[in-house]
Amino acid sequence: MSGGLHRATKTNIPSRQLGIDSQVADDAATLAHIDATHATADVRPMLVEVSGRDRPGITTGVLAILHRGAATVEDIEQVVIRGRLTLGFLVGVPPGANLLSDLLVFGWEHDLNIEFEPAPSLPSPHRDAQVVTVLGPELSPGQLERITGAIADAGGNIQRIERLSRYPVWSYEFRVTGVDGPELRKYLVSSASDVDVAVQAEGLYRRVNRLIVFDVDSTLIRNEVIDLLAAEAGTLEEVSAITDDAMAGRIDFEKSLRARVALLEGLDEAAIERAWQNVELTPGARTVIRTLRRLGMTIVLVSGGFTAFTDRLVEELGVDAAHANKLEVRDGKLTGALTGRIIDRAAKAQLLREIAEHREVPLDQTIAVGDGANDLDMLDAAGLGVAFCARPLVADVADTTLSLPYLDALLFLLGIRREHIEEADELDPSFES
Ligand SMILES: [Mg+2]
Repeated sequence: MSGGLHRATKTNIPSRQLGIDSQVADDAATLAHIDATHATADVRPMLVEVSGRDRPGITTGVLAILHRGAATVEDIEQVVIRGRLTLGFLVGVPPGANLLSDLLVFGWEHDLNIEFEPAPSLPSPHRDAQVVTVLGPELSPGQLERITGAIADAGGNIQRIERLSRYPVWSYEFRVTGVDGPELRKYLVSSASDVDVAVQAEGLYRRVNRLIVFDVDSTLIRNEVIDLLAAEAGTLEEVSAITDDAMAGRIDFEKSLRARVALLEGLDEAAIERAWQNVELTPGARTVIRTLRRLGMTIVLVSGGFTAFTDRLVEELGVDAAHANKLEVRDGKLTGALTGRIIDRAAKAQLLREIAEHREVPLDQTIAVGDGANDLDMLDAAGLGVAFCARPLVADVADTTLSLPYLDALLFLLGIRREHIEEADELDPSFES
Protein backbone atom coordinates (compact mmCIF):
# COMPACT_ATOMS: atom_id res chain seq x y z
CA MET A 1 0.00 0.00 0.00
CA SER A 2 1.81 3.07 -1.16
CA GLY A 3 2.50 6.12 0.91
CA GLY A 4 1.31 4.42 4.14
CA LEU A 5 1.79 6.88 6.93
CA HIS A 6 1.63 9.99 4.77
CA ARG A 7 -1.54 9.19 2.97
CA ALA A 8 -3.81 11.46 4.97
CA THR A 9 -1.81 14.52 3.97
CA LYS A 10 -1.95 13.65 0.29
CA THR A 11 -5.64 13.21 -0.06
CA ASN A 12 -8.05 16.05 -0.60
CA ILE A 13 -10.79 14.09 1.12
CA PRO A 14 -10.84 15.14 4.76
CA SER A 15 -10.53 12.73 7.63
CA ARG A 16 -13.87 11.58 8.97
CA GLN A 17 -14.37 11.69 12.66
CA LEU A 18 -17.72 13.40 12.51
CA GLY A 19 -21.21 12.61 13.66
CA ILE A 20 -22.93 9.90 11.70
CA ASP A 21 -25.26 12.23 9.77
CA SER A 22 -22.52 14.44 8.47
CA GLN A 23 -20.46 11.30 7.70
CA VAL A 24 -23.14 10.00 5.43
CA ALA A 25 -23.48 13.42 3.82
CA ASP A 26 -19.74 13.51 3.34
CA ASP A 27 -19.86 10.02 1.96
CA ALA A 28 -22.12 11.16 -0.83
CA ALA A 29 -19.65 13.94 -1.61
CA THR A 30 -16.81 11.42 -1.62
CA LEU A 31 -18.63 9.13 -4.00
CA ALA A 32 -19.39 12.06 -6.27
CA HIS A 33 -15.72 13.03 -6.17
CA ILE A 34 -14.54 9.52 -6.98
CA ASP A 35 -17.14 9.22 -9.71
CA ALA A 36 -15.99 12.49 -11.22
CA THR A 37 -12.33 11.46 -11.26
CA HIS A 38 -12.96 7.91 -12.48
CA ALA A 39 -16.05 8.42 -14.56
CA THR A 40 -14.89 6.12 -17.32
CA ALA A 41 -13.78 3.22 -15.18
CA ASP A 42 -16.16 0.41 -14.39
CA VAL A 43 -14.41 -0.51 -11.19
CA ARG A 44 -13.19 2.36 -9.04
CA PRO A 45 -9.84 1.71 -7.34
CA MET A 46 -9.83 3.05 -3.80
CA LEU A 47 -7.59 3.09 -0.77
CA VAL A 48 -9.34 2.54 2.55
CA GLU A 49 -7.45 3.20 5.76
CA VAL A 50 -8.77 2.20 9.14
CA SER A 51 -7.06 3.33 12.34
CA GLY A 52 -7.78 3.27 16.03
CA ARG A 53 -7.45 1.14 19.14
CA ASP A 54 -6.89 -2.47 18.12
CA ARG A 55 -9.28 -5.19 19.18
CA PRO A 56 -10.44 -8.49 17.71
CA GLY A 57 -12.87 -8.43 14.81
CA ILE A 58 -11.98 -5.18 13.04
CA THR A 59 -10.35 -6.74 9.97
CA THR A 60 -13.14 -9.31 9.79
CA GLY A 61 -15.78 -6.58 10.03
CA VAL A 62 -14.24 -4.52 7.23
CA LEU A 63 -13.85 -7.59 5.01
CA ALA A 64 -17.49 -8.51 5.59
CA ILE A 65 -18.56 -5.08 4.31
CA LEU A 66 -16.27 -5.40 1.28
CA HIS A 67 -17.69 -8.85 0.62
CA ARG A 68 -21.30 -7.62 0.84
CA GLY A 69 -20.44 -4.77 -1.54
CA ALA A 70 -18.86 -7.23 -4.04
CA ALA A 71 -15.61 -5.27 -3.92
CA THR A 72 -12.32 -6.87 -4.97
CA VAL A 73 -9.41 -6.71 -2.55
CA GLU A 74 -6.09 -6.08 -4.32
CA ASP A 75 -3.93 -5.62 -1.25
CA ILE A 76 -4.16 -5.55 2.54
CA GLU A 77 -1.64 -4.28 5.05
CA GLN A 78 -2.04 -4.17 8.77
CA VAL A 79 0.26 -2.84 11.47
CA VAL A 80 -0.32 -2.80 15.22
CA ILE A 81 2.03 -0.69 17.31
CA ARG A 82 1.43 -0.62 21.06
CA GLY A 83 -2.23 -1.51 20.70
CA ARG A 84 -2.93 0.98 17.90
CA LEU A 85 -4.11 -0.43 14.62
CA THR A 86 -3.47 0.87 11.14
CA LEU A 87 -5.18 -1.20 8.51
CA GLY A 88 -5.05 -0.43 4.80
CA PHE A 89 -6.97 -1.93 1.92
CA LEU A 90 -6.57 -1.37 -1.79
CA VAL A 91 -9.97 -2.26 -3.19
CA GLY A 92 -11.82 -2.23 -6.48
CA VAL A 93 -15.34 -0.88 -5.97
CA PRO A 94 -17.93 -2.05 -8.52
CA PRO A 95 -20.40 0.45 -10.01
CA GLY A 96 -23.30 1.32 -7.75
CA ALA A 97 -21.81 -0.21 -4.60
CA ASN A 98 -22.60 1.64 -1.41
CA LEU A 99 -19.52 0.58 0.48
CA LEU A 100 -18.47 3.88 1.84
CA SER A 101 -21.50 4.57 3.99
CA ASP A 102 -21.38 1.02 5.39
CA LEU A 103 -17.73 1.50 6.26
CA LEU A 104 -18.41 4.86 7.90
CA VAL A 105 -21.18 3.38 10.03
CA PHE A 106 -18.84 0.54 11.00
CA GLY A 107 -16.16 3.05 11.97
CA TRP A 108 -18.59 5.11 14.01
CA GLU A 109 -19.89 2.02 15.84
CA HIS A 110 -16.38 0.83 16.67
CA ASP A 111 -14.78 4.19 17.39
CA LEU A 112 -12.39 3.92 14.43
CA ASN A 113 -11.09 6.55 12.08
CA ILE A 114 -11.79 5.60 8.47
CA GLU A 115 -10.37 7.44 5.50
CA PHE A 116 -10.84 6.98 1.77
CA GLU A 117 -8.75 8.04 -1.15
CA PRO A 118 -9.29 7.29 -4.82
CA ALA A 119 -6.31 5.26 -6.04
CA PRO A 120 -4.89 6.16 -9.45
CA SER A 121 -5.13 2.55 -10.66
CA LEU A 122 -4.98 -1.01 -9.43
CA PRO A 123 -1.32 -1.88 -9.89
CA SER A 124 0.29 -5.26 -9.33
CA PRO A 125 1.70 -4.21 -5.99
CA HIS A 126 4.38 -6.86 -5.40
CA ARG A 127 6.66 -6.41 -8.39
CA ASP A 128 10.36 -5.61 -8.09
CA ALA A 129 10.47 -4.85 -4.41
CA GLN A 130 13.77 -4.26 -2.62
CA VAL A 131 14.46 -5.13 0.97
CA VAL A 132 16.64 -2.61 2.81
CA THR A 133 18.09 -3.76 6.11
CA VAL A 134 19.59 -1.15 8.40
CA LEU A 135 21.76 -2.18 11.35
CA GLY A 136 23.56 -0.17 13.99
CA PRO A 137 24.61 -0.22 17.66
CA GLU A 138 21.56 1.99 18.08
CA LEU A 139 19.44 3.74 15.49
CA SER A 140 18.52 7.31 16.26
CA PRO A 141 15.66 9.23 14.62
CA GLY A 142 18.32 11.22 12.76
CA GLN A 143 19.92 8.08 11.34
CA LEU A 144 16.54 6.65 10.34
CA GLU A 145 15.61 9.99 8.80
CA ARG A 146 18.71 9.84 6.59
CA ILE A 147 17.77 6.32 5.50
CA THR A 148 14.16 7.16 4.66
CA GLY A 149 15.32 10.42 3.03
CA ALA A 150 17.76 8.52 0.82
CA ILE A 151 15.03 6.06 -0.17
CA ALA A 152 12.75 8.98 -1.11
CA ASP A 153 15.56 10.77 -3.00
CA ALA A 154 16.17 7.58 -4.99
CA GLY A 155 12.50 7.62 -6.00
CA GLY A 156 11.64 4.68 -3.76
CA ASN A 157 8.41 4.21 -1.92
CA ILE A 158 8.47 2.58 1.54
CA GLN A 159 5.74 -0.01 1.80
CA ARG A 160 6.56 -1.54 5.15
CA ILE A 161 8.94 -1.05 8.05
CA GLU A 162 9.63 -3.78 10.58
CA ARG A 163 11.96 -3.80 13.58
CA LEU A 164 13.91 -7.05 13.66
CA SER A 165 16.15 -6.66 16.69
CA ARG A 166 17.26 -4.51 19.57
CA TYR A 167 20.07 -6.84 20.63
CA PRO A 168 22.99 -7.20 20.06
CA VAL A 169 22.36 -4.59 17.39
CA TRP A 170 19.31 -2.59 16.41
CA SER A 171 17.93 -3.48 13.02
CA TYR A 172 15.01 -2.47 10.83
CA GLU A 173 13.83 -3.88 7.55
CA PHE A 174 12.23 -1.62 4.93
CA ARG A 175 10.30 -2.95 1.97
CA VAL A 176 10.75 -0.52 -0.89
CA THR A 177 9.23 -0.36 -4.37
CA GLY A 178 9.61 1.95 -7.33
CA VAL A 179 13.40 1.90 -7.63
CA ASP A 180 15.92 -0.73 -8.70
CA GLY A 181 18.51 -2.19 -6.35
CA PRO A 182 21.73 -0.57 -7.67
CA GLU A 183 20.14 2.89 -7.76
CA LEU A 184 18.77 2.52 -4.24
CA ARG A 185 22.12 1.27 -2.94
CA LYS A 186 23.91 4.26 -4.49
CA TYR A 187 21.72 6.75 -2.61
CA LEU A 188 21.87 4.82 0.65
CA VAL A 189 25.65 4.36 0.65
CA SER A 190 26.30 8.05 0.15
CA SER A 191 23.89 9.19 2.87
CA ALA A 192 24.28 6.61 5.62
CA SER A 193 27.92 5.94 6.27
CA ASP A 194 27.55 5.45 10.03
CA VAL A 195 25.23 2.41 9.87
CA ASP A 196 25.25 -0.86 7.96
CA VAL A 197 22.77 -0.87 5.10
CA ALA A 198 22.03 -3.85 2.89
CA VAL A 199 19.85 -3.85 -0.22
CA GLN A 200 18.51 -7.15 -1.47
CA ALA A 201 15.94 -7.92 -4.13
CA GLU A 202 12.87 -9.36 -2.54
CA GLY A 203 12.09 -12.70 -4.04
CA LEU A 204 11.68 -16.39 -3.52
CA TYR A 205 15.40 -17.11 -3.20
CA ARG A 206 15.86 -14.70 -0.34
CA ARG A 207 13.59 -16.95 1.69
CA VAL A 208 15.16 -20.26 0.77
CA ASN A 209 18.90 -19.95 1.24
CA ARG A 210 20.22 -23.48 1.52
CA LEU A 211 24.00 -23.32 1.77
CA ILE A 212 26.19 -20.99 3.80
CA VAL A 213 29.96 -20.90 3.66
CA PHE A 214 31.93 -19.23 6.45
CA ASP A 215 35.50 -18.06 6.45
CA VAL A 216 37.02 -19.00 9.81
CA ASP A 217 39.89 -16.75 10.92
CA SER A 218 38.62 -13.31 12.05
CA THR A 219 35.10 -14.31 10.90
CA LEU A 220 33.80 -17.33 12.81
CA ILE A 221 36.57 -17.00 15.37
CA ARG A 222 38.27 -13.85 16.55
CA ASN A 223 41.78 -15.17 16.01
CA GLU A 224 44.09 -15.86 13.09
CA VAL A 225 45.10 -19.44 13.89
CA ILE A 226 48.51 -19.08 12.29
CA ASP A 227 49.23 -16.32 14.81
CA LEU A 228 48.27 -18.68 17.65
CA LEU A 229 50.69 -21.30 16.30
CA ALA A 230 53.39 -18.72 15.71
CA ALA A 231 53.04 -17.59 19.32
CA GLU A 232 53.77 -21.18 20.33
CA ALA A 233 56.73 -21.29 17.95
CA GLY A 234 58.08 -17.94 19.12
CA THR A 235 57.82 -16.44 15.61
CA LEU A 236 54.67 -14.33 16.09
CA GLU A 237 56.09 -11.01 14.99
CA GLU A 238 57.46 -12.27 11.69
CA VAL A 239 54.30 -14.26 10.95
CA SER A 240 51.87 -11.43 11.85
CA ALA A 241 53.63 -9.03 9.54
CA ILE A 242 53.17 -11.45 6.62
CA THR A 243 49.52 -12.16 7.63
CA ASP A 244 48.68 -8.44 7.57
CA ASP A 245 50.20 -8.03 4.13
CA ALA A 246 48.33 -11.06 2.82
CA MET A 247 44.93 -10.10 4.25
CA ALA A 248 45.26 -6.57 2.91
CA GLY A 249 45.98 -8.06 -0.51
CA ARG A 250 49.52 -6.68 -0.68
CA ILE A 251 51.13 -10.06 -1.36
CA ASP A 252 49.98 -13.31 -2.95
CA PHE A 253 48.16 -15.47 -0.44
CA GLU A 254 49.74 -18.83 -1.27
CA LYS A 255 53.26 -17.42 -1.20
CA SER A 256 52.57 -15.74 2.12
CA LEU A 257 50.97 -18.89 3.52
CA ARG A 258 53.96 -21.06 2.67
CA ALA A 259 56.33 -18.44 4.09
CA ARG A 260 54.40 -18.36 7.36
CA VAL A 261 54.03 -22.13 7.69
CA ALA A 262 57.79 -22.47 7.16
CA LEU A 263 58.21 -20.36 10.31
CA LEU A 264 56.37 -23.11 12.28
CA GLU A 265 58.91 -25.82 11.48
CA GLY A 266 59.74 -28.03 14.45
CA LEU A 267 56.63 -27.11 16.48
CA ASP A 268 55.28 -30.22 18.25
CA GLU A 269 51.69 -31.37 18.00
CA ALA A 270 50.93 -30.60 21.65
CA ALA A 271 51.39 -26.93 20.70
CA ILE A 272 48.40 -27.23 18.35
CA GLU A 273 46.26 -28.35 21.28
CA ARG A 274 47.50 -25.40 23.36
CA ALA A 275 46.76 -23.01 20.46
CA TRP A 276 43.24 -24.49 20.14
CA GLN A 277 42.61 -23.65 23.79
CA ASN A 278 43.19 -20.00 22.87
CA VAL A 279 40.66 -19.98 20.04
CA GLU A 280 37.83 -17.58 20.80
CA LEU A 281 34.55 -17.78 18.93
CA THR A 282 33.19 -14.52 17.55
CA PRO A 283 30.23 -13.26 19.62
CA GLY A 284 27.01 -14.58 18.08
CA ALA A 285 28.77 -17.46 16.25
CA ARG A 286 26.95 -20.17 18.20
CA THR A 287 23.61 -18.37 17.79
CA VAL A 288 23.99 -18.02 14.05
CA ILE A 289 25.10 -21.65 13.52
CA ARG A 290 22.37 -23.02 15.80
CA THR A 291 19.67 -20.96 14.08
CA LEU A 292 20.76 -21.74 10.53
CA ARG A 293 20.91 -25.45 11.40
CA ARG A 294 17.31 -25.25 12.63
CA LEU A 295 16.40 -23.79 9.25
CA GLY A 296 17.93 -26.84 7.62
CA MET A 297 20.79 -24.99 5.96
CA THR A 298 24.02 -26.71 5.02
CA ILE A 299 26.90 -24.98 6.82
CA VAL A 300 30.46 -25.36 5.57
CA LEU A 301 33.67 -23.76 6.79
CA VAL A 302 36.12 -22.76 4.07
CA SER A 303 39.34 -21.59 5.62
CA GLY A 304 42.76 -20.42 4.55
CA GLY A 305 43.80 -21.66 8.01
CA PHE A 306 44.35 -25.26 9.00
CA THR A 307 42.35 -28.48 9.30
CA ALA A 308 43.81 -28.99 12.77
CA PHE A 309 41.46 -26.19 13.87
CA THR A 310 38.55 -26.45 11.45
CA ASP A 311 38.08 -30.17 12.22
CA ARG A 312 37.73 -29.27 15.89
CA LEU A 313 35.27 -26.49 15.01
CA VAL A 314 33.13 -28.90 12.98
CA GLU A 315 32.89 -31.07 16.08
CA GLU A 316 32.38 -28.18 18.50
CA LEU A 317 29.69 -26.33 16.49
CA GLY A 318 28.05 -29.21 14.67
CA VAL A 319 28.51 -27.79 11.18
CA ASP A 320 28.40 -30.02 8.11
CA ALA A 321 31.95 -29.87 6.80
CA ALA A 322 35.17 -27.88 6.62
CA HIS A 323 37.88 -27.32 4.06
CA ALA A 324 41.27 -25.89 5.07
CA ASN A 325 45.00 -26.29 4.55
CA LYS A 326 46.70 -29.35 6.00
CA LEU A 327 49.88 -28.93 8.01
CA GLU A 328 52.43 -31.66 7.37
CA VAL A 329 53.44 -33.54 10.51
CA ARG A 330 56.38 -35.93 10.79
CA ASP A 331 57.45 -37.68 14.02
CA GLY A 332 54.98 -35.57 16.00
CA LYS A 333 56.38 -32.27 14.72
CA LEU A 334 55.35 -29.76 12.04
CA THR A 335 57.68 -29.92 9.06
CA GLY A 336 56.97 -26.34 8.00
CA ALA A 337 55.26 -27.59 4.83
CA LEU A 338 51.67 -28.15 3.69
CA THR A 339 50.12 -31.22 2.12
CA GLY A 340 47.18 -31.46 -0.25
CA ARG A 341 45.13 -28.74 -1.89
CA ILE A 342 46.03 -25.17 -1.03
CA ILE A 343 42.99 -23.12 0.03
CA ASP A 344 43.62 -19.65 -1.30
CA ARG A 345 41.38 -16.94 -2.73
CA ALA A 346 40.58 -18.79 -5.96
CA ALA A 347 40.13 -22.12 -4.16
CA LYS A 348 37.62 -20.63 -1.71
CA ALA A 349 35.36 -19.47 -4.56
CA GLN A 350 35.90 -22.76 -6.39
CA LEU A 351 34.97 -24.72 -3.25
CA LEU A 352 31.75 -22.74 -2.88
CA ARG A 353 30.83 -23.69 -6.46
CA GLU A 354 31.81 -27.34 -5.97
CA ILE A 355 29.89 -27.72 -2.71
CA ALA A 356 26.83 -26.01 -4.20
CA GLU A 357 26.96 -28.26 -7.24
CA HIS A 358 27.50 -31.39 -5.15
CA ARG A 359 24.53 -30.53 -2.94
CA GLU A 360 22.48 -29.36 -5.92
CA VAL A 361 21.99 -25.85 -4.59
CA PRO A 362 21.83 -23.01 -7.16
CA LEU A 363 24.41 -20.29 -6.41
CA ASP A 364 21.53 -17.84 -5.99
CA GLN A 365 20.62 -19.75 -2.86
CA THR A 366 24.06 -19.56 -1.26
CA ILE A 367 25.57 -17.17 1.25
CA ALA A 368 29.26 -16.55 1.88
CA VAL A 369 30.68 -14.66 4.86
CA GLY A 370 34.27 -13.52 5.23
CA ASP A 371 36.58 -10.70 6.25
CA GLY A 372 39.74 -10.92 4.15
CA ALA A 373 41.01 -10.28 0.64
CA ASN A 374 41.13 -14.03 0.05
CA ASP A 375 37.35 -14.14 0.62
CA LEU A 376 36.51 -11.63 -2.12
CA ASP A 377 35.95 -14.11 -4.97
CA MET A 378 33.86 -16.33 -2.71
CA LEU A 379 31.71 -13.35 -1.60
CA ASP A 380 31.28 -12.38 -5.21
CA ALA A 381 30.29 -15.89 -6.33
CA ALA A 382 27.64 -16.39 -3.64
CA GLY A 383 24.03 -15.29 -3.99
CA LEU A 384 24.60 -13.12 -0.92
CA GLY A 385 28.20 -12.20 -0.05
CA VAL A 386 28.65 -10.60 3.35
CA ALA A 387 31.86 -8.84 4.37
CA PHE A 388 32.07 -9.25 8.14
CA CYS A 389 34.14 -6.74 10.11
CA ALA A 390 36.18 -6.61 6.96
CA ARG A 391 39.34 -4.77 6.15
CA PRO A 392 38.60 -1.61 4.10
CA LEU A 393 39.67 -3.19 0.79
CA VAL A 394 37.10 -5.95 1.26
CA ALA A 395 34.32 -3.80 2.72
CA ASP A 396 34.62 -1.37 -0.19
CA VAL A 397 33.90 -3.94 -2.87
CA ALA A 398 31.44 -6.21 -1.04
CA ASP A 399 27.75 -5.63 -1.70
CA THR A 400 26.82 -6.19 1.89
CA THR A 401 28.84 -5.38 4.99
CA LEU A 402 28.40 -6.00 8.68
CA SER A 403 30.77 -3.75 10.57
CA LEU A 404 29.76 -4.55 14.15
CA PRO A 405 31.49 -7.55 15.74
CA TYR A 406 28.38 -9.71 16.26
CA LEU A 407 28.04 -12.59 13.85
CA ASP A 408 24.35 -13.13 14.68
CA ALA A 409 23.59 -9.79 12.98
CA LEU A 410 23.77 -11.93 9.83
CA LEU A 411 20.41 -13.42 10.81
CA PHE A 412 18.78 -9.98 10.68
CA LEU A 413 20.09 -9.52 7.14
CA LEU A 414 18.12 -12.66 6.32
CA GLY A 415 14.98 -11.08 7.78
CA ILE A 416 14.96 -13.26 10.88
CA ARG A 417 13.61 -11.58 14.01
CA ARG A 418 15.45 -11.68 17.32
CA GLU A 419 12.23 -12.75 19.07
CA HIS A 420 11.95 -15.79 16.82
CA ILE A 421 15.55 -16.83 17.50
CA GLU A 422 14.90 -16.65 21.25
CA GLU A 423 11.58 -18.47 20.96
CA ALA A 424 13.27 -21.32 19.10
CA ASP A 425 15.94 -21.49 21.82
CA GLU A 426 13.28 -21.69 24.52
CA LEU A 427 11.52 -24.53 22.73
CA ASP A 428 14.74 -26.48 22.22
CA PRO A 429 15.37 -28.87 25.14
CA SER A 430 18.99 -29.35 24.08
CA PHE A 431 19.74 -25.62 24.21
CA GLU A 432 21.68 -24.28 27.18
CA SER A 433 22.29 -20.55 27.22
MG1 LIG B 1 39.45 -14.44 7.61
